[in-house]
Amino acid sequence: MSFPIAPSPAERAALAAAWLPLRLLAPGGSGALSILIYHRVLPERDPLRPGEPNQAEFAEQMGWVQALFRVLPLSEAVTALRRGRLPPRAACITFDDGYADNLHCALPVLRALGLPATCFVAADYLDGGVMFNDRIIEAVRALPKGETDLSAWGVGVWRIAGDEDRRRLAEAVIRSVKHLDGVEREERVARLVRESGVSLPRDLMMTTDGLRQLATGGFEIGAHTRSHPILSRVDDATARTEIGGSREVLEEVLSEPVRLFAYPNGQPGRDYTARDVQLVEACGFQAAVSTAWGAARRHADPLELPRFTPWDRHARGFAARMLRNLLIRRPETVTA
Ligand SMILES: [Zn+2]
Repeated sequence: MSFPIAPSPAERAALAAAWLPLRLLAPGGSGALSILIYHRVLPERDPLRPGEPNQAEFAEQMGWVQALFRVLPLSEAVTALRRGRLPPRAACITFDDGYADNLHCALPVLRALGLPATCFVAADYLDGGVMFNDRIIEAVRALPKGETDLSAWGVGVWRIAGDEDRRRLAEAVIRSVKHLDGVEREERVARLVRESGVSLPRDLMMTTDGLRQLATGGFEIGAHTRSHPILSRVDDATARTEIGGSREVLEEVLSEPVRLFAYPNGQPGRDYTARDVQLVEACGFQAAVSTAWGAARRHADPLELPRFTPWDRHARGFAARMLRNLLIRRPETVTA
C-alpha cells in the first residue's frame, strides 16, 4: 500500500487561506480543542461503506490536519485544556470500536506523519467479533439481486439492482434495529444473517495481540463499553458492567491503566444520560468523549467532550468544515 504524506502545492494554498481564521478561532491557552472521530480506514473503497476513507484518502486528510493543527494525544490535551495551557490550534484524532484496519491501515499513516491518536475499543468484539452494523452490511451484501421482503426488519420490500440499493437497504435496516432492546436486536440481526446465508468475516476487529501492537505503536487505548449497547437503554447494573467491565478487560490485555472512554453512538441525552456520565466518573475514567459536534473549551466537562468528523474530499472544504465546527457554541458545564 502507498499513500501521499504531504499536501500538494494547491492544497497548501487552500490550507493557508484557512490559517488566519483558525488562529483566531483556536488560540492557545483557553482556546478550543478539536477532536476528530473516525471508525475505519479501509484497505480499499467499499461501496457499502461510502463514509469510511480508504488509506490514501485518510493519508490525505491527515496531511491537511498536520498542516492546520497541532495534534496531541487526547490525555495530554485534556490535561492542558483543564489547566488553560492548550497550544494554539490543538486537535486530537480518535477512532471508535476497535477495527483491525486501525492497526493495518491507519497506524502506518499516522506513524509516517508523526501524529498521535486514540482508539476506543468495544472489548467484547476483540478476537473475531463482528458488531451488529457490520453483520447487517455483510448480510445485505450477500442478498440475491431482485425483490426482497424485509418487512420483519421494519423496512418493507426492496428491489436490489446494485451497490447503491444495498447501501441504502443496509442503512435502513441498521436505523430500524439500532435503538431496539439488545436481545431483540440480536435476534433480528442473527435471523437476517442466517437468511442471507453469508459467512461473516472473522478479522474485522482487532485481536488482543493487535491491540497491544497498536498501543506500543503510539496509540492511546480507551474503553467503549463491552458490547456497544446504547447506554440510555440499559439498566443501572448493565451500564456499570458495560462501562467498568470494558476498562477491566482492556487493562488486563494491555497491563496498563485505561483512563479514556467514548460513549457508544455518543449523542448526549439520546444515547447516554447523566447516569452514564456519573458511572464513567465512578469507574475512574479521566475523560470521555461524545459525538456532539463542536470544539471543547476551557470549562468543558472532561467527561463529555464533543467530537467531529470532517468528511470532505478536498482540502478547502475540509478546512472550512473544521472552522465551522470551531464556531459551534454549546452550554458548558463548569467543573471543579
Ligand atoms: Zn462505537
